[in-house]
Amino acid sequence: MDCIFCKIVKGEIPSTKIYEDEQVYVFADIAPTAPIHWLLIPKEHISGANAITAENSGVVAHIYEVIAKLAKEHGFAEGFRVVTNCGEDAGQSVFHLHFHLLAGRKLAWPAG
Ligand code: 5GP
Ligand code: ZN
Repeated sequence: MDCIFCKIVKGEIPSTKIYEDEQVYVFADIAPTAPIHWLLIPKEHISGANAITAENSGVVAHIYEVIAKLAKEHGFAEGFRVVTNCGEDAGQSVFHLHFHLLAGRKLAWPAG
Protein backbone atom coordinates (compact mmCIF):
# COMPACT_ATOMS: atom_id res chain seq x y z
CA MET A 1 0.00 0.00 0.00
CA ASP A 2 1.33 3.41 -0.93
CA CYS A 3 0.71 5.33 2.29
CA ILE A 4 3.18 8.04 3.32
CA PHE A 5 2.30 7.79 7.01
CA CYS A 6 2.86 4.00 7.01
CA LYS A 7 6.26 4.76 5.42
CA ILE A 8 6.98 7.33 8.16
CA VAL A 9 6.12 4.72 10.84
CA LYS A 10 8.54 2.26 9.19
CA GLY A 11 11.27 4.91 8.89
CA GLU A 12 11.22 4.76 5.09
CA ILE A 13 10.42 8.48 5.00
CA PRO A 14 12.29 10.61 7.56
CA SER A 15 10.35 12.54 10.19
CA THR A 16 11.00 14.56 13.33
CA LYS A 17 9.89 12.11 16.01
CA ILE A 18 8.30 13.52 19.16
CA TYR A 19 7.08 10.30 20.80
CA GLU A 20 6.56 6.64 20.01
CA ASP A 21 5.15 3.57 21.74
CA GLU A 22 3.74 0.22 20.62
CA GLN A 23 0.53 1.70 19.23
CA VAL A 24 1.22 5.31 18.28
CA TYR A 25 3.79 7.45 16.47
CA VAL A 26 3.98 11.24 16.95
CA PHE A 27 5.95 13.54 14.66
CA ALA A 28 6.17 17.18 13.64
CA ASP A 29 3.95 18.31 10.75
CA ILE A 30 6.07 19.25 7.73
CA ALA A 31 4.04 22.46 7.22
CA PRO A 32 3.31 23.72 10.74
CA THR A 33 0.46 26.17 11.34
CA ALA A 34 1.33 26.78 15.01
CA PRO A 35 4.55 26.76 17.07
CA ILE A 36 3.58 23.22 18.07
CA HIS A 37 1.94 21.28 15.24
CA TRP A 38 2.35 17.57 15.72
CA LEU A 39 0.60 14.61 14.11
CA LEU A 40 -0.43 11.59 16.17
CA ILE A 41 -1.05 8.45 14.16
CA PRO A 42 -1.87 4.85 14.97
CA LYS A 43 0.91 2.54 13.76
CA GLU A 44 -1.82 0.35 12.32
CA HIS A 45 -3.19 1.71 9.04
CA ILE A 46 -6.71 3.10 9.50
CA SER A 47 -7.81 5.21 6.54
CA GLY A 48 -9.65 7.89 8.50
CA ALA A 49 -12.13 8.76 11.25
CA ASN A 50 -14.89 7.15 9.15
CA ALA A 51 -13.06 3.79 9.38
CA ILE A 52 -13.03 3.60 13.19
CA THR A 53 -14.83 0.49 14.44
CA ALA A 54 -15.39 -1.41 17.69
CA GLU A 55 -12.35 -3.50 16.72
CA ASN A 56 -9.84 -0.68 16.21
CA SER A 57 -11.15 2.18 18.38
CA GLY A 58 -8.93 1.37 21.37
CA VAL A 59 -6.03 3.20 19.78
CA VAL A 60 -8.10 6.40 19.63
CA ALA A 61 -8.51 6.43 23.43
CA HIS A 62 -4.81 5.70 23.74
CA ILE A 63 -3.95 8.61 21.44
CA TYR A 64 -5.92 10.97 23.70
CA GLU A 65 -4.01 9.64 26.72
CA VAL A 66 -0.76 10.37 24.88
CA ILE A 67 -1.99 13.87 24.01
CA ALA A 68 -2.68 14.67 27.69
CA LYS A 69 0.71 13.29 28.70
CA LEU A 70 2.62 15.22 26.02
CA ALA A 71 0.70 18.41 26.85
CA LYS A 72 1.78 18.19 30.49
CA GLU A 73 5.37 17.24 29.68
CA HIS A 74 5.81 20.01 27.11
CA GLY A 75 3.99 22.70 29.12
CA PHE A 76 0.92 23.42 26.99
CA ALA A 77 -1.75 21.56 28.98
CA GLU A 78 -3.69 24.80 29.51
CA GLY A 79 -4.30 25.40 25.80
CA PHE A 80 -4.22 23.17 22.77
CA ARG A 81 -6.42 21.92 19.95
CA VAL A 82 -6.85 18.45 18.43
CA VAL A 83 -8.21 18.24 14.88
CA THR A 84 -9.03 15.34 12.58
CA ASN A 85 -10.09 16.14 9.05
CA CYS A 86 -12.17 13.36 7.54
CA GLY A 87 -12.76 13.08 3.82
CA GLU A 88 -11.89 15.39 0.96
CA ASP A 89 -14.63 17.90 1.80
CA ALA A 90 -13.00 18.43 5.19
CA GLY A 91 -9.53 18.75 3.68
CA GLN A 92 -8.14 15.31 4.52
CA SER A 93 -5.10 14.92 2.30
CA VAL A 94 -3.41 11.86 3.82
CA PHE A 95 -5.69 8.85 4.13
CA HIS A 96 -4.12 7.36 7.26
CA LEU A 97 -5.98 8.44 10.43
CA HIS A 98 -4.18 11.31 12.14
CA PHE A 99 -4.79 13.85 14.85
CA HIS A 100 -3.31 17.33 14.46
CA LEU A 101 -2.15 18.65 17.84
CA LEU A 102 -1.84 22.44 17.78
CA ALA A 103 -0.49 24.65 20.56
CA GLY A 104 1.83 27.54 21.35
CA ARG A 105 -0.36 30.41 20.14
CA LYS A 106 -3.90 31.76 20.58
CA LEU A 107 -6.20 29.54 18.55
CA ALA A 108 -9.25 31.27 17.09
CA TRP A 109 -12.66 29.60 17.12
CA PRO A 110 -14.67 28.84 15.01
CA ALA A 111 -11.79 27.65 12.89
CA GLY A 112 -13.76 28.15 9.63
P1 5GP B 1 -4.68 16.49 6.49
O1 5GP B 1 -4.61 17.52 5.40
O2 5GP B 1 -4.88 15.10 5.90
O3 5GP B 1 -5.61 16.81 7.60
O4 5GP B 1 -3.25 16.51 7.19
C1 5GP B 1 -2.12 15.96 6.59
C2 5GP B 1 -0.93 16.68 7.20
O5 5GP B 1 0.22 15.92 6.92
C3 5GP B 1 -0.69 18.09 6.65
O6 5GP B 1 -0.76 19.04 7.71
C4 5GP B 1 0.70 17.99 6.01
O7 5GP B 1 1.47 19.16 6.23
C5 5GP B 1 1.30 16.78 6.69
N1 5GP B 1 2.24 16.04 5.87
C6 5GP B 1 2.04 15.60 4.58
N2 5GP B 1 3.12 14.93 4.15
C7 5GP B 1 4.00 14.91 5.18
C8 5GP B 1 5.31 14.37 5.33
O8 5GP B 1 5.88 13.72 4.43
N3 5GP B 1 5.93 14.56 6.52
C9 5GP B 1 5.34 15.26 7.54
N4 5GP B 1 6.04 15.40 8.69
N5 5GP B 1 4.10 15.78 7.44
C10 5GP B 1 3.45 15.63 6.27
ZN1 ZN C 1 -1.00 4.13 6.37
